[in-house]
Parts: sequence; C-alpha cells; structure tokens
Amino acid sequence: MHETDHEIRMLAEADRWRSRDLAVLWHPCTQMREHPHTLPLVPIARGEGAWLIGQDGRRYLDAVSSWWTNLFGHAEPRIGAAIAAQAGRLEQVILAGFSHPPAVELAERLLAIAPRQQGRAPLAKVFYADNGSAGVEVALKMAFHCFRNRGETRRTRFVALENGYHGETLGALAVGDIPLYRRVYAPLLAEALFAPSPDAYAARDGESEAQAAHRAADTLADLFERHPGEICALILEPRVQCAGGMRMHHPDYLRRARELCDAHGVFLIADEIATGFGRTGTMFACEQAGVAPDLLCLSKGLTGGFLPLAAVLATQDLYDAFLDDSRERAFLHSHSYTGNPLACAAALATLDIFVQDDVIARNRATAARMAELAAPLAQHRHVAQVRQAGMIVAFELARDGRRDAPFDASERIGLRAYRAALDRGVLLRPLGEVLYWMPPYCIDEEQLQRLAAATATAIEEATACA
Ligand SMILES: *Cc1c(COP(=O)(O)O)cnc(C)c1O
Repeated sequence: MHETDHEIRMLAEADRWRSRDLAVLWHPCTQMREHPHTLPLVPIARGEGAWLIGQDGRRYLDAVSSWWTNLFGHAEPRIGAAIAAQAGRLEQVILAGFSHPPAVELAERLLAIAPRQQGRAPLAKVFYADNGSAGVEVALKMAFHCFRNRGETRRTRFVALENGYHGETLGALAVGDIPLYRRVYAPLLAEALFAPSPDAYAARDGESEAQAAHRAADTLADLFERHPGEICALILEPRVQCAGGMRMHHPDYLRRARELCDAHGVFLIADEIATGFGRTGTMFACEQAGVAPDLLCLSKGLTGGFLPLAAVLATQDLYDAFLDDSRERAFLHSHSYTGNPLACAAALATLDIFVQDDVIARNRATAARMAELAAPLAQHRHVAQVRQAGMIVAFELARDGRRDAPFDASERIGLRAYRAALDRGVLLRPLGEVLYWMPPYCIDEEQLQRLAAATATAIEEATACA
C-alpha cells in the first residue's frame, strides 16, 4: 500500500513537471505540437552511469549518450569533483589578455594527443569556443581569413560533403547537407560546393567500400580542378557521417582527400565533434587513415558530457598568417565564455580517465560484444545493413531489407521505434530509418543485453505494418 502511494506520488510529480515544462520551454529539434500527446516528455531527475532516472522513478538506458556527449556515464564522480574543485578556485575569467592554468594545460594535452601524420607539421595551437557549431564557425573563418592574410583573396569557397552535418548556426548550416535542418534557411546560407559522400552504404552493386570511397574521391578531384584558387577548405566528418544516419566510409577517402587538399593548396578541416574521443575505436577517427588535418574541431565528448566546450586545433603555419602589426589581420573572433575554466577542468578530468581506465583498450572489448549482440538483428526482414565503427553500431531499416526500397518518412518508422524502445526503458533516438547504439563507454554486459533486446523489439514493432 505504502509502495503504491509512493509510486502514485512520483507519477503525479512527473506530470507536474511535464505541464510546467510545456508552459515555458521550447525544446530543441522538436515539433512542439507533438507534445504532450504523440510524444510524452520524459522529465529526468538524475543520472547514474548509463542510466537516466525519471521523475516518475522509471529508468532509461541512455543508448545515445545524451546526444553523443556523454563518455563515461552520467554523474561520473571524478569529473564532478574536478568541476567542484575548480569552481572553488576560479569559475570564469576573460581569456583576452588573461590566462588560467586549466586552459593552458588542456591545450597542451590536446595537442599532445591530436592526430599526427608523417612528414607533416603537427597541430600546434588551440582556440576555444563554447559549442560544436561555434567551433565549426571558428574553423571556417580561420581558413578563409588565413588566405586573405596571405593575399589569396579569391579563395572564398568551402567544399563540404553531401549528407554531412556540422551544426545549426548559419555558417555551419551552410556546409551541412541534411535537408531537414537546412532547407528552410537556404536563402540565408552562403553557397558551399558539395562533393559526393563516400558513404559505403551507397556503394554500387559489386563495388567494394574502398572502391566507393575512391569513386567519391575522383569526383572531389574534379571539383577541385574546376575551381582553381577559389577554395579555402574542405570540411568533413572523418569515418562516420553521424547526423546523416551514421553512414560510414572507407579510410582511403580521407587519405585521398588529404592528398587532394595538399595538391590544391586547400585546408582540410576535420570535424571530429562527434567522432572524437574514442567514439569510432581510436582516440580520433583521422588516425584510422593516418592523416592529420590543418584544422581539427572538437566538442561533445571533450568534457565527458558535463559542460559545453569546443576546441579548434590549428597548425603553426595557419596561425603564423595572423601575426602582424595590424589588428585587422588578427583573428578577432570571441565568445564570452571562451575557455571557461570549469569546462576546461572537466575536459582535463576526462583526459585523465582515458589514461586511468585504459578506455580505448577497454572499449575494444565492449565494441566486440556490441558486434556479437547486433549480428542476429541483421537477419531481420527489414534490416538492410548493420554497420559499426568502434562504439557506434547502426541498423539501417529498409523495406524487405532492400537498399533500393527505403521506408517513406511519412511511415514514421523512427518514431515508432523510439516509442517501442522507451516503453522498454531504453532511450534510442533514431535518425530517420536508422537505429543506432552510441552508448556511454561504461555500458556493461547486462545493459548491452537489455539494449539488444529492446532494439530487436523496436525494429519488430516499428516495421510490423510494413
Ligand atoms: C553535433 C555536431 C556538431 C554541432 O555541435 P553542437 O554542439 O550541437 O553545436 C557539429 N559537427 C558534428 C559532426 C556534430 O555531430
């Protein structure tokens, strides 16, 4: 009886939060009309490892790492303690003209682990911003401004990949190619040049993943040749186009892209905002191709998922082009919270955990288990492909598993899968018809099994009428 009273109180409590929320909040990436009926909001009281615990007491396995930010679980005590300690010393200070140890130490450590390439000068400078999109804006502006400072004023164009995603601010959106996010704002966007995605899922019949990558690289070569001296930079997500449906490509593409950028004097911007920090199996996805970019964008997992922070790493060469007596040549970009000490402290604690817990090695075992548990799902009639890159596993749903027969968006396959999984205490947030696992690295065997079971049910229920 007592237990039941308690449960009823918790349910009522969750309902109260739902109404208070909908009275005042405008949620991201949401058609607000779908609340509260189609999609009930889920008020969360606390997090604990891979679990989110609702205001109503229900538990949800966070299989999307809270929008790909979380690395080691919610409320990880070591990161929390580092933030608390820093908060007792210095919470924020202007980073123009002033400095603080966490910003310096973090820059040193990021540069020390950044991707390297034989025969190429390493990344040498760090510029901070406060979210991924802002980091992308910084990289784009730096590439453009660098050429301007060098007197190459015709270089005003960016090349991006079809199906790529780099954030939601207008500059980042201009180099993104997800119609759902981009279409409405198209009239406001600077015109980028788009090259075909090296996406292995789109390989032609009889074509290997490597061949698909080379075919895309050949077209990129043509594009570069048609615009001599006009391009500042190529921006891409190495190995996995995440928001574009976890589409993966062969590392050969990155090698070719690097060579083409060098041949045409174009900067390579690697957007590792989602792929960085061990997500694809190596610390950075660029390592899998043995390439280093001229500009590297990091965010999301950078603070272990605790605080917003972005870092843009640049080469010495690029940096040197801004040194002059004139202010105009300097990079006058700033954000109020640039290099926030609390966020830097969280990032330092995150890097410590990678060492203390030998995370990359441990993830190899977890990724192998994910592969084993995902394999049977490939047999489902409507699963066209199961693909994996380290700690990302994606399930591509298509009618009768046929790549040439994608489900129609109006069938809301993703939404149905989301609901079915949520009913079983698992947070999956499909990208269209792609279900994916991108869990916190601390996910254990029991949780993995629950995830696999819920995914099987979600696929079954979402495609039941198909
Ligand atoms: C999420 C993401 C961004 C944008 O980061 P925000 O912090 O959401 O602005 C940029 N690029 C990639 C590859 C991302 O996945």
